[in-house]
Amino acid sequence: MVDISNIKNIAVVGAGVMGYGIAQVALMAGYNVTLVDIKDDIVNNGLAKIEEGLKKVEAKGKLVEGASVSNIMARCKKSIDLTSAVKGVDFVFEAVVEKIEIKKNVCKIIMENSPPHCILASNTSTFRITEIAEDSNRPEKVIGMHFFLPVILQCCVEVMRGEKTTEEALDIGVLIGKMLPCLKGKRLSVRIQKESPGFIANRLLTPPIIYFNWVLDQAFEKGIPWEQIDADAEARKLVPMGPCELTDYLGVDTTYNVLKSYEKIFSPDFSPGKVLTNLVMEGNLGRKTGRGFYNWTSGKPKINLNRKAGIYSPEMSMAIMLNEGCKLLEESIVSGYKIIDDVMLTGTSIPGPFGPGKRNYEKWSKMLEEFVKISGKKYLKPCALMKSGGFIKMRR
Ligand code: NAD
Repeated sequence: MVDISNIKNIAVVGAGVMGYGIAQVALMAGYNVTLVDIKDDIVNNGLAKIEEGLKKVEAKGKLVEGASVSNIMARCKKSIDLTSAVKGVDFVFEAVVEKIEIKKNVCKIIMENSPPHCILASNTSTFRITEIAEDSNRPEKVIGMHFFLPVILQCCVEVMRGEKTTEEALDIGVLIGKMLPCLKGKRLSVRIQKESPGFIANRLLTPPIIYFNWVLDQAFEKGIPWEQIDADAEARKLVPMGPCELTDYLGVDTTYNVLKSYEKIFSPDFSPGKVLTNLVMEGNLGRKTGRGFYNWTSGKPKINLNRKAGIYSPEMSMAIMLNEGCKLLEESIVSGYKIIDDVMLTGTSIPGPFGPGKRNYEKWSKMLEEFVKISGKKYLKPCALMKSGGFIKMRR
């Protein structure tokens, strides 16, 4: 049984939206935290966001008894010098930008300058932990810990190994994950046995974008307005916003970069389509730049959902997620589907595909086969476990 009682000092590297969220919950769990970034104004903004977040928690009466925002903030330090910031720490969360060369370099510096027992947990969305750790002197102590936004509300953290990670490092990551509070209840800290870029949630969420890309390019050729695609999606009331609005909301470049990464790791079928590529090339990145599929310059766009295009099916997205979930089972990344559904619900608030999948797998397998025929996107071919329904017996 591993002991984490000696872990007291934590560094969080990267003071962006994920970094300050992770730092906040680590502080709430009682750790001493140093928040690190490359510029003073960024770390200061991170500290301000942590304080703001803590005040909201305090207003809800959810701080532990006897704690106050000021005594929690007293355990929080800041730094713009990574080398010295990690000198005396026991555990590091890395939440820097999703660029592999930066992540590898940050990992190398952290492992060269922290004590030998220190573990580094990368919050990468797409990269292999093995690759992030490959230039460092202690790859056995590097793990992946993938949180969801906002960290304080989404109760899941996925914990994954790289090829050289020890069982002990993985166990410590899982236990630390469980220590970090969440406003909706106990944090689900999921141990993923085998390396899987994208962990569980992003493995399921990204393949449907292959289909979305294809729909976008078809719509563009036929002159169909984007709002009609969103109308197709929202007609089923399964999702809070249509895929075009959601892509704008999250950042068109974020989707584009994830696809570029998956294109390299998994299949050329993930290659961003013409519409997405053009939006990125033109700098129309959605909400943050004011323009993407929609015009956001005066706030949330008014989208007319009265007319549907009839070319986008949310059911196809569910079928694709079921197929990807079955692949995770086939690849022994998880041993049962319950954990996949639990991660989806607690991490993303989207119900997992296995409930409806049990009733619809035959129909959905046929839908995927048809789609592969017309699109040539072989990555979406239904796997044997989905087609046979064999997954139904693999709940745990
Ligand atoms: P962000 O752009 O908000 O923040 C990244 C921060 O890293 C920036 O403040 C940047 O200045 C800093 N940084 C860059 N180089 C650095 C260096 N060498 N040393 C220290 N800091 C450095 O990004 P984010 O959304 O917080 O994402 C961070 C990580 O978390 C990424 O790997 C991302 O894929 C992952 N992630 C994001 C989400 C999400 O929904 N945003 C969810 C899960 C995981």
